[in-house]
Amino acid sequence: MLKFLPMLFVALGFYACANNNAQSNPKQDDLLRQNAHNNSDTSLSVAADTNINKNVVMEIDSSLTPEYLMGKFDPSKDNRFVKISPPYSSADMYGRKEMFESFKLMQAAAKKDKISLTIVSATRTYDMQKAIWEGKWNSKKPVDGKILPPLSQLSGKERALKILLWNSMPSTSRHHWGTDIDMNSVSPAYFATGKGLKEYEWLVAHAAEYGFCQTYSEFGESRQTGYQVEKWHWSYMPIAQECTKAYPVLVKNEDIKGFVGSETAVDIDIIKNYVLGINKACQNLPK
Ligand SMILES: [Zn+2]
Repeated sequence: MLKFLPMLFVALGFYACANNNAQSNPKQDDLLRQNAHNNSDTSLSVAADTNINKNVVMEIDSSLTPEYLMGKFDPSKDNRFVKISPPYSSADMYGRKEMFESFKLMQAAAKKDKISLTIVSATRTYDMQKAIWEGKWNSKKPVDGKILPPLSQLSGKERALKILLWNSMPSTSRHHWGTDIDMNSVSPAYFATGKGLKEYEWLVAHAAEYGFCQTYSEFGESRQTGYQVEKWHWSYMPIAQECTKAYPVLVKNEDIKGFVGSETAVDIDIIKNYVLGINKACQNLPK
């Protein structure tokens, strides 16, 4: 369905990051090792962690950089992105081209079933996410329906965890990648009944046909950690699964910084528990 940019095959000793790919199957490992061998000119070895006694070979899309994965770029100047405007979205915004092409097909198919789909949020940069995060941290906006108590009554980590019910730390949002979209509403109540419920049921039945998956699904076997269930947030997995795979290789908890409360990222283990706290079934979708 999609053509990918050339891949850089990376052979690395995988650190204990609880990556979904840690459960890779042996056949795939063999294939990846073989590919890495065949691409030895561009392969990169990373020192093995002592906790893991075998090298795991991963392929990393060479177009993915830490800056991109952490939202530190300008999508309006990046030719992988396209401007998205009404009636596709509620306002002007940017998204990855392939994601938007697929969304348009999905939107048209939904329309035939009398279901209306509108993107209400697509790409958010680090700076945009920083404004959201710091707004919540400073109690100017309600978190989970309430204004946070003063910092004196809530430790930094507790405060961060409350915000993390619904909002990402800057640098860690899937919205940085331009692959993820929120549709129609960001209210759990909206999708619980009536029109919103019908829209959600349509997405559950058909979104995968267009490469979209609900990353913040119900907690259970397929997802143990991360944000609350978000029925509006759908990820275009043909690109997003490459980003998910690359993220823990290229970004460490210590790199999550530059905003108020960022010192909690290491203690919370933000990458393991939030960046990788997604519905495992999404990562198994065909490209
Ligand atoms: Zn979202």
